[in-house]
Parts: sequence; C-alpha cells; structure tokens
Amino acid sequence: MPEAPSTLSDDGSFDENNKKLLQFFEDITTNADEVQKKILNEILSRNIGVEYLQRHGLNGNTDYENFKEIMPVVTYEDLKPDIDRIADGDRSSILCSQPISEFLTSSGTSGGERKLMPTVEEELGRRSLLYSLLMPVMDQFVPDLEKGKGMYFLFIKSEAKTPGGLLARPVLTSYYKSSYFKKRPYDPYTNYTSPDETILCLDSYQSMYSQMLCGLCQNTQVFRVGAVFASGFIRAIRFLEKHWPLLCDDIRNGTLNSQITDPLVREAVMKILKPNPKLAEFIETECRKESWKGIIPRLWPNTKYIDVIVTGTMSQYIPTLNYYGSDLPLVCTMYASSECYFGINLNPLCKPSEVAYTLIPTMGYFEFLPVAREDEGPEKSKPYDKNDLVDLVDVKLGQEYELVVTTYAGLYRYRVGDILKVAGFKNKAPQFHFVCRKNVALSIDSDKTDEVELHDAVVKASTHLLPFEASLTEYTSYADATTIPGHYVLYWEINQSSETLIPTLVFEDCCLTIEESLNSVYRQCRVSDKSIGPLEIKVVENGTFDKLMDYAISNGASINQYKAPRCVKYAPIIELLNARVVSSYFSPKCPKWVPGQKQWCSS
Ligand code: AMP
Repeated sequence: MPEAPSTLSDDGSFDENNKKLLQFFEDITTNADEVQKKILNEILSRNIGVEYLQRHGLNGNTDYENFKEIMPVVTYEDLKPDIDRIADGDRSSILCSQPISEFLTSSGTSGGERKLMPTVEEELGRRSLLYSLLMPVMDQFVPDLEKGKGMYFLFIKSEAKTPGGLLARPVLTSYYKSSYFKKRPYDPYTNYTSPDETILCLDSYQSMYSQMLCGLCQNTQVFRVGAVFASGFIRAIRFLEKHWPLLCDDIRNGTLNSQITDPLVREAVMKILKPNPKLAEFIETECRKESWKGIIPRLWPNTKYIDVIVTGTMSQYIPTLNYYGSDLPLVCTMYASSECYFGINLNPLCKPSEVAYTLIPTMGYFEFLPVAREDEGPEKSKPYDKNDLVDLVDVKLGQEYELVVTTYAGLYRYRVGDILKVAGFKNKAPQFHFVCRKNVALSIDSDKTDEVELHDAVVKASTHLLPFEASLTEYTSYADATTIPGHYVLYWEINQSSETLIPTLVFEDCCLTIEESLNSVYRQCRVSDKSIGPLEIKVVENGTFDKLMDYAISNGASINQYKAPRCVKYAPIIELLNARVVSSYFSPKCPKWVPGQKQWCSS
C-alpha cells in the first residue's frame, strides 16, 4: 500500500511537499481496490479479538469473504448498548483493541441526544492527512495562496465527560485542541488571521469578536475566507453587521474593549492590533452603506474564494453567500463526519451543484448499499440484503447508494445515513455527489430534525389548544434560511368550535413546547451557538391544506395516496402557504439545554 508522505516534516520544499501529497493521492486512487482490501484486513487483524467481532462469529478469521458473509450491517441503535458500556467505564476491548481515547459527539441524534462515536488516538493522524491534501489540490486551481492568509471562523464547543470519565466533544473541537492543530509546524497554508487563542476560546462572543477583529485588521492580506459550514460563515457576517461600530473603535484606537476578558485572547489579539484610523474609517464607510451586497470583496479586496460547505442542506445558503460575496467562487473542499473522514473535492472551483467528493481509500473501509430509484416500482420497498452491498471500486456511475463504513475505531459495516450518487471516477476511486441525509426534514445549521421527532413535538404542543376547543387539523414545516439566523417555521391549520380568542401567549407556549421537545443539537444551536432563531408558528386560514392538495394533484400526485407533506421546500408551495397566513407567533425564549447527555446530567 502506498505510504502517506510525512506531511509534518519540513524537509523538502513546499512545492515538493505538494507534489508528494498529490502523488500519494494518485497512487491510492489508482490502487483503490488493493488499498481497500488491505485496510479491511488491517482493521480486522488488529481487532480480531474484540468482543463485538467474536460475538458475530468472526472467530479469528480476517478473510474478506468471511467478513462479507458474517458481519451484519448496523445502525447506531444496534451499537448503542456497547457504546453505553464504554461510556459507563467498561475498558475491555468491546469494539476496538486500541483504547477508545474519547467520544466524538455527532450532530446525528439517537433518542434526542447526540450520537457518541468512539475514536482512537491515531485517528487524528488519519484525519490530518485529509486536511493536508486540501491545499495542494487548491493550489492547482488558485496559485499563490501561500502568499496570503486565510480568514476562517473556527470555533470550539463545550465538552462533557461520560460517567466512565471519557471526554465527549465534537470532532472539530477535538481536532483544534489536539497537538495536530496547536503544534502544527509553520505552513503557509495554515496561516490564518485568527490566532489559535481566539479559536480555542470557549466563549462564543469573545471568540467571534476577536476573530473578526483580527480578520479586519489584516484585511488586505486575506486571500481566502471561510468557515466549516455556510451557516457559520453567514453568522459571522451577521455578527459584523451588528458589531462593526465597536470593531471600528478598537481598530481606530488599537485597543481591545473590556468585553473581551479572556487574558490569552487579549494577549494574542494585542500582538496584531495597532491603531489604524484609516482602516477604521474605510470599514466604517463600507458598513454604513445601505447595501451590503458584495461586502466580502469590499472589505477583503484580495479574496479569491469563499471556503464553506454548501452541499446538502447547506445549499439553501447559496443565494445569501452570492449576495455578500458578489459571486466569488464558493468552494466545498471536503466531506467528513464524526465516524470517519471521507473525501475531498478535486475540482474545487466547480459550481456547487457539480461538487463531487472523491473518497479517500485509506480513511476506512467503504461499502455501498444501493438505493432503489423512484421508478423501480414495488421492488424498492424490499428490505435490503447485506449481499447487496458493493465495494468502493464496484459502484456504478449515476447510481445512488447509502454509505456504510468500517473504521479503525470500532465501527463495522456501520450505516452513516448519507445518500451519495456516483458522479465519476478519479482513477479507480469513485467521486460522489452528496444527495441528502436520510430522514432529515428540517435543518438550519448542524441540527437534523426528522419527521417523527417533529410530529411528536407538534402533537405535544397542540394540546395547549384543547382548553379553547380548538385542534390542529393539519401542519407542515419549512426551514427558513432567508432570516439570519435561519429558523423553523410551522404552518398550522386550526379547527375551533368555540368563538373564544386563543391568546398570543398560548401560541407562544406552543412554539416553546416544540423547541423543548426537539433534540439536543437543535437546542444547543438555539441556546449556545445562537445559530438558529426562535421557532415560528404561522396560523393559516381554513382550507389552506385543501389548496395544497389541489396544487399537488394538479402537478400529478395521486388523489388516493395524497398525504400532506410534513416539510416543504418548493418555493411555489411556500408562497401558497404564506399567502394564507392569518397570524404568526414566535418562541418567546430559548429552550433548555445543558452540555452533555441528559442521562449523565441526572446521574
Ligand atoms: P457529524 O455527524 O456532526 O460529524 O456530521 C457529519 C454529517 O454532516 C455527514 O454524515 C453529512 O451528513 C454531513 N456533511 C459533512 N460534510 C458534508 C458535505 N461536504 N456536504 C454535505 N453534507 C456534509
């Protein structure tokens, strides 16, 4: 198997390092089949004695065919009892022979709480390798990036301890706090405007303020801007809209206002900040203008692209980014998860709709469960068979698949829940469009709310209407990304037999009850990250959902099978609903949220 170049050593020139990395990528994609079999063999050989593999009868056999025949394809729910044992402190080799170093808290949820993904120390190295491939690829399309800086808004989030003492935190928090990030050797590609101390500050206001201030101070040196997801970058622009007067004062005087109290942040920022009345005046003039169209290239004139994920649900932010960015290229570089990092985009300047991620064959062992197409009739509902799974190199162009991974950290044939479509190949390695995440109805930031969860929350909230002899007859929902931050909107049609007016307070209670009932990722986004705005209920006039049905039927839906959609995205339908709104209400306050999992807090 090709050896990954040691990206951390600084022998050899910067160009040579890029070449080495690209050659490595060339080699592993050319030999994708051999590499994948080797990875599977390595994972199984290391872990052959672990309880999970024994339980499933692997019996010391690391054979590829045996694995394919014996190992079940699983979801998080199947693994939960084992994960809970590890979280509770069982240190025996349950899933993995190497010690589980921590849990990565996924934005996917189970029972309303974040999923806990086991990880091992060496996984950080594997993930760093993916990061190190991004800029050599980018350099082929946008040269000289090493001569400027990246203004990236990066954040850490709070961490918790499991009852057994393991850390549980998001994957990026784990990465930014690791020596791979903090002690990275000098590399012009990781030359960011934000000092590490500002990224590593847990207070989200201080972190954002200081990162924005440093980005503004160094505005002409900035060649690229970004955040992980589009929603995060838009949040940063919104922050600037609110706080530019204070930021300009600090730039003018070369002082840092007293709201920034973290001593490490203060010290790091003061190394960069110098009194600059001219720059302050320039920023002030731009920010005062009525239109913020093109504010990114106006304030950071040498920006060549915006580096954010705009595939999947994040595509809803493309119009906003195009507005602020004046059509600067939107670049999606990578596809990754808490379970495993997956792939990179080899054509980063392509349109967002054309983004395809090449899976990196060394990250884990990948299999693919074909997803039946709409036109395949009743067959599509047949339960999958594990024999249907195909290997990385055997996927077919144009076909959709659900991704299944086997990782070094103890996941075996684990369904990630992402649906991917084969868009092409890089040598033998397939390239995928991200189609969607299974069962996600609503998403604004990293939250993922499914229909069942939404339904349970709505049913609970609608009981507030009963004292007014009113009931909910129909509802649907919409993730409104046009507000900053975006928010969930619910359209309610109500049937009331009495004349009593339902007070505003009651609807506001309904909004809050829904928010309280949604999963912890949603509530964290509302409370801690403030990346989701208050939930809104729009009451629509009676007969609106009949009109919705008429519309669907006139567009070819079957009258017998018609069900009101629980979530809508299509603009004409949203217009139809909005035209019939009689009143609207917002959640009056944030729902409750505390770091960690509910069961740990009560213990
Ligand atoms: P998490 O579980 O919080 O680590 O989130 C991982 C999930 O985020 C993936 O399984 C995808 O559903 C989504 N995701 C990650 N990267 C991308 C991307 N580039 N485009 C679309 N969705 C992505």
